[in-house]
Amino acid sequence: MPIKIILSDIDGCISPEESMSWDEALFGRFVRVCRAAAAGEGGLPPLTLCTGRPQPYVEVLLKILDIRLPAICEGGAVLYSLRDNRSLFVPSIQPDQIRKLQALRAAIQDEVFPAYPELVYQFGKESQMSLFCENPDIFPDVTRRVQALVAAIPGLNVHISPSRYYLNIDLVGVTKGAAIKLLLDGLGIARDEAAGIGDTMGDWSIREAVGFFACPANAVPPLREAADYVSPHNDLAGILDILERPELQKG
Ligand SMILES: [Mg+2]
Repeated sequence: MPIKIILSDIDGCISPEESMSWDEALFGRFVRVCRAAAAGEGGLPPLTLCTGRPQPYVEVLLKILDIRLPAICEGGAVLYSLRDNRSLFVPSIQPDQIRKLQALRAAIQDEVFPAYPELVYQFGKESQMSLFCENPDIFPDVTRRVQALVAAIPGLNVHISPSRYYLNIDLVGVTKGAAIKLLLDGLGIARDEAAGIGDTMGDWSIREAVGFFACPANAVPPLREAADYVSPHNDLAGILDILERPELQKG
């Protein structure tokens, strides 16, 4: 079945996870590929983003890449459309869960951050939390402390998972894959007509939500084993290689 949409994670895929400047030549190539796909030129179907990043970060990339499809932000909690500049929570998110998540955020800031000075709170998210640290060895300890705080907030159901340098705290039931299903249903596109790209276990649900899944060489081993194609190249070089796969061409 021909692919009609490609959904890609950002960090560790179209950009390095490290806080560093992007490769200008590679990113320039990627911009041209995305813009041609959005315009219906060339062999690729349109691409959009499926990321843990907040909407303002995604908005800028949609403009640079000329992505006209809605994008998935905050790990599947938010659908953002550039066309009408509208951000929407996915229907599974209840307002009381947002309030309880805000209470957890305050508790983490009061009780966890003082113990881990190297831990950084990622600003800008509405329905998910990401804690950044250059030393992910502390994540198991931090996870235990956060779990204890969650247990003290009745009715709050969160899922805590690490990506490479981030500890992500998501509301239960919110996944990138569930948001992809919503997006595909809205566009009238079947699972087998969608392709996905990811690199960490937070992208496992992308694998389940699409017919063709690929990852760059830097992806975690379980994801590489479950992928239909693994590029021999890391992050954006890998994505550019993936976008040349015959399975993704419109035919
Ligand atoms: Mg990633």
